[in-house]
Amino acid sequence: MFIHVAVPVPNLDLLTYAVPDGVAAPKVGARVVVPLGTRVVTGIVVEIHVSSAVERPTPTGGGRPPDMKPIREVLDAEAFVPPEVVALARWTAEYYAAGVGDTIPALLPPMARGGRADAHKSTRVASITAAGLEALEVSNEAQALTEKQRGALELLSGAPTGIATPALAARGIAPDAISRLAKHGYISLRHDRVDRDPFAGSDRGQTGDRPRSDPGLTPVGPRQLTAEQTAALDRLLALAAKGEFRVALLHGVTGSGKTEIYIRLASAVRVAGRRALMLVPEIALTPAAATLFRQAFGERVAIQHSGLSDGERHDQWQRIRRGDIDVVVGTRSAVFAPLQEVGLIVVDEEHDGSYKQDESPRYNGRDVAIVRAQRAGALVVLGSATPSMETYHNAVAGKYEHVVLERRVLDRPLASVTVIDMREEYAAEGPDVILSRKLREAIQARLDRREQSLILLNRRGFATAVFCRQCAGTIDCPNCSVSLVVHGEGSAKRARCHYCNYTARVPKACPLCAGPYLEQAGFGTERVEAEVRRASPGARVARLDRDAIRRRGTLSTLLRRFREGEIDVLVGTQMIAKGHDFPRVTLVGVVSADVGLGLADFRASERTFQLLTQVAGRAGRGEMPGEAIVQTLYPDHYSIQLACRQDYPAFYEREMRFRKAMRYPPVLSLVNVVVRSRTFAGAMDDAADVVQKVREGDADALRVLGPAPAPLGKLRGEYRAQLLIKGTNRRKIREALQAALRLRPELQRRMVVDVDPLSVL
Ligand code: ADP
Ligand code: ZN
Repeated sequence: MFIHVAVPVPNLDLLTYAVPDGVAAPKVGARVVVPLGTRVVTGIVVEIHVSSAVERPTPTGGGRPPDMKPIREVLDAEAFVPPEVVALARWTAEYYAAGVGDTIPALLPPMARGGRADAHKSTRVASITAAGLEALEVSNEAQALTEKQRGALELLSGAPTGIATPALAARGIAPDAISRLAKHGYISLRHDRVDRDPFAGSDRGQTGDRPRSDPGLTPVGPRQLTAEQTAALDRLLALAAKGEFRVALLHGVTGSGKTEIYIRLASAVRVAGRRALMLVPEIALTPAAATLFRQAFGERVAIQHSGLSDGERHDQWQRIRRGDIDVVVGTRSAVFAPLQEVGLIVVDEEHDGSYKQDESPRYNGRDVAIVRAQRAGALVVLGSATPSMETYHNAVAGKYEHVVLERRVLDRPLASVTVIDMREEYAAEGPDVILSRKLREAIQARLDRREQSLILLNRRGFATAVFCRQCAGTIDCPNCSVSLVVHGEGSAKRARCHYCNYTARVPKACPLCAGPYLEQAGFGTERVEAEVRRASPGARVARLDRDAIRRRGTLSTLLRRFREGEIDVLVGTQMIAKGHDFPRVTLVGVVSADVGLGLADFRASERTFQLLTQVAGRAGRGEMPGEAIVQTLYPDHYSIQLACRQDYPAFYEREMRFRKAMRYPPVLSLVNVVVRSRTFAGAMDDAADVVQKVREGDADALRVLGPAPAPLGKLRGEYRAQLLIKGTNRRKIREALQAALRLRPELQRRMVVDVDPLSVL
């Protein structure tokens, strides 16, 4: 007898092991300890074959020697991970062209995979470079690699996102060996912030039902649904009652009371003896959602997200697994929660980019949720005020049920929106103006009335570039093809790369021509914060972006202070646009509405429309009416115009014309491939090779664009070439890629494959 096992090692497909005679067959989903090279790892049983190993034992047909190694130990008599979740992980790996092992971290609670080395707030992470990979590929003799170094590189070559240095040390790779490898350029080192649950402090002891003191979340008894809510709920209840797979888009404007509908649906599903999974896009949104569900379900609600401490996550996972839980609230990876009898999956803010994982497997939690529901015979509700083009496309086509909420609860009006043409503002006020007159006045008026304002700019930092007026050069990152962003003012001023975190002093003279005429250009949230303080002295201003919340707990503190009225004006990136319900906000200012429009990405308009609609939806959610002021250089762009009118169907029509003309999703499927190498020519040559081999495949079924230098042509010292594959059949695209990789298997480790990418930048 032999078994196929998924082990938590990147890029690995299923491995095959023998079960020694006399050992009882493990179940699918059980954990087994298996030898892997010189290591011993814990894996999950994915498939069992009782027949003899004479048939080809590997599922991919790669052929494995018949003398496969025996497993060492079976850890569980029963399935540890439910078999349907194992199958879902396998589907995910295949669909997103990843190794099955890549999905294991999402399946297992932290402690079940033997401790994690990253339980620090900031760790140094080593990852192998293209040079390192090449050194490994070259024969032993030619290289001056010691045994230890080779071992370290081999280890790292299996971990595309890198390994934390403490974890390396635990495997006998000493710090000086690491720095020597870094000196040779074989590995790169970076500092990773490990963003733990920002609410960990306030939400500790997940079973506790300590009431929260947020005015925005005050529990209200069973409230009367509006007529519109009732009609929507009735339609969804009818779908849920069928007990079969259905997808519904709950398309409701911001503040239309979608959460109330989710909770009632979940209650109905529970009465029918089934369970519910509620996905939210951000860790920061889980406590609010979980609190609301606890009011209805008491203790039988669990939270799952990567921000929980290992212990908490483990306990919650076990409770779900034991069947003590009826509702799981969580982020993306909660789609793999070991919940059984799933009857309902809600994906709130289904359009949100956070559902897409940006490392392998590059899955979209929304789409995996749909597959899970399909297999479980469950109802999926995709909630959004601004559905993704894909989802709306399916709703229009009749594949998804389309349930609409057109009005806010209690007939609260949508915010009134004013567009400010910044070209006129520059003409009147000079080219350096950041806050228009109208926005400055509006902020001041809120201060006078003791109301609150949110100011959005989707760009961090103080200035976005430093350039020389003499030679026109810019100060760029030495490792990446981007210019450095200035953070801070005065003595705290630093230039930083937003991709690799390279940091330098801002020089006084131009490093290229030595001219003394360096100037800062562009502006980010830090500058806006400073401008608000300058325009409204005495205002209590705070900033919310990734820099501001670097310290653990800052995010929850900031949100709480804002909700409790200790902050008047909150300046921030898209983080402030998400889901939060602040009843005293009556003004939303958008400083450069067109930040994203300049990007050469096919979703630029969609993202701009969504962001503007969502952020305008943050104003006037309480008793007081709201106002949004949108500053832009392109007041006539359709995504800005239609967001201001909150006209989703018109936006969809207009955007579909573009997608059709350019043959982009949802008209076609898209796969983005990036090949990295230590030289530009190397990257381009390898990418060209892949292009050719893919084209040799099924030329009729797909179109390959490229190779071309990737938009981010150099990243962390490595050059990147890109190719795009378009087609109507994802399976054919994947097969063509797999065929290409079979001819150049060594490319796998230097290649990123993104199926259904959210961005091609
Ligand atoms: P959405 O998710 O659609 O943007 P929410 O579910 O956050 O909207 O609801 C917006 C606000 O309206 C919340 O404060 C919620 O408590 C409140 N609300 C929802 N339904 C009702 C109702 N039927 N009557 C009164 N208030 C409601
Ligand atoms: Zn950089």
